Amino acid sequence: MFQFDNSYARLPERFFASVYPEPVEGPKLLKFNAKLAAELGLDVDLSDPDRLAAIFSGNVLPAGSTPLAMAYAGHQFGGFSPQLGDGRAILIGEVVDRAGTRRDIQLKGAGPTPFSRRGDGRAALGPVLREYIVSEAMHAFGIPSTRALAAVATGEQVYRERVEQGAVFVRVAASHVRVGTFQFFAARGDNEGVKTLADYVIDRHYPELKAAESPYLAMLSAIAARQAELIARWLGVGFIHGVMNTDNMTISGETIDFGPCAFLDEYDQMKVFSSIDQGGRYAYRNQPGIGQWNIARLAECLLPLLDTDEEKAVDKANGVLKSFGETFQAKWLSVFRDKIGLSTAEDGDGDLVQGLLAVMQGDGADFTLAFRALCDAAEGDDTDFLACFADPAKALEWLGLWRTRLDSEEVSLAERAQKMRLANPYLIPRNHRIEEAIAAANYGDMSFFHRLVEATAKPFETREEFADLALAPTPEERVARTFC
Ligand code: AMP
Ligand code: MG
Ligand code: MG
Repeated sequence: MFQFDNSYARLPERFFASVYPEPVEGPKLLKFNAKLAAELGLDVDLSDPDRLAAIFSGNVLPAGSTPLAMAYAGHQFGGFSPQLGDGRAILIGEVVDRAGTRRDIQLKGAGPTPFSRRGDGRAALGPVLREYIVSEAMHAFGIPSTRALAAVATGEQVYRERVEQGAVFVRVAASHVRVGTFQFFAARGDNEGVKTLADYVIDRHYPELKAAESPYLAMLSAIAARQAELIARWLGVGFIHGVMNTDNMTISGETIDFGPCAFLDEYDQMKVFSSIDQGGRYAYRNQPGIGQWNIARLAECLLPLLDTDEEKAVDKANGVLKSFGETFQAKWLSVFRDKIGLSTAEDGDGDLVQGLLAVMQGDGADFTLAFRALCDAAEGDDTDFLACFADPAKALEWLGLWRTRLDSEEVSLAERAQKMRLANPYLIPRNHRIEEAIAAANYGDMSFFHRLVEATAKPFETREEFADLALAPTPEERVARTFC
């Protein structure tokens, strides 16, 4: 079924632990992403869901698999752990997809590994379904993300705050190398390991940099740029990752680890959903600053590779950190220019965007609905946009400033609105809808989950049949806290 070519397994032994998935009681296929399977060039027999369930639960290991758990370290909420590693995820192998990109196939929740510490190596149904929904929605938004290939129920129970059903999530990633993977070797003073990993990363993700004057510095810059752009795009859809620990930041630039993540309903730049983020370290607005902090941790690991002279190495690293801020600002502005329908760049554009966000802040305006309604306003119908605000007077004033700016561009109203609808989703996977899908699934009813996945697969299309999913939550429906 898979044409595996397992490059990570060919790295030195200290990079990972070889480990087999632990078989589960009663695997049952809950969802399979046939479109992604085709993209990956997998040869699957969709008429045999039991066989798929056996493979994707880890009960049957496909030919050519070299299962392993990756070693990594990480800063969690600012505190350093020299050893984390895949405690419940097993990389079964890598495939080269139809576009020629190498992708990891990983089973999350497939049993304990040498990195499990006190954990059980398992995943609960709810978080598996959340990761399925949100990672696929991110992809549909056009935002780099790990993907969901399958979700399988294990037929076993897992013990969290309460007893839950177990599941395995099949994750596809450009790779699972994280900032924390570099930290694992650096923390041990294993500079050889850092170098081997850097060479691996350049080969796999940044082959064009091999010819650069200083490939390691170029790699650090490229990783920083991808992360800065990624976070700018998160902000554009109101995404709050929730656990931006260094072990949850990829080197490829893909969004990874959808634990207590959530989307803004009403706009609030200091919004925090995660129950474990008590200090608000990973609040919506803090994300770019944290991204830069994480890149600083990566840069520290790479110092010996940047220059033999330590002072010069530090200067180079600081240059990258500075450019992180600039790249983020530029991308953020371009994301939000698109959202308000500007196709040219002018000096006051940042202020214009901030002006709108300031009107939204504290007014209870729903982030997604307000921007989507702004597309109608671009064609002259302000009703829905103004209805998003408790006090429409300031919004009306902002519309005036916006229209003055729009007048400087020669674009037809219809064309502008059409473009804006590709920058402002009609619907997002709302937190309360995700919770609803999980609650139903816990009672054995997967239909709402399937409907939500279908709806969020084409988030920019106005599809009346999903109008209920586009709505903001009522006060009773609103989700205040998310858990991982
Ligand atoms: P995360 O919060 O998902 O980024 O995970 C942080 C660390 O905890 C990683 O090393 C995970 O592999 C590990 N971990 C999380 N949940 C479990 C579990 N149920 N069993 C074993 N390890 C786990
Ligand atoms: Mg993680
Ligand atoms: Mg996690």
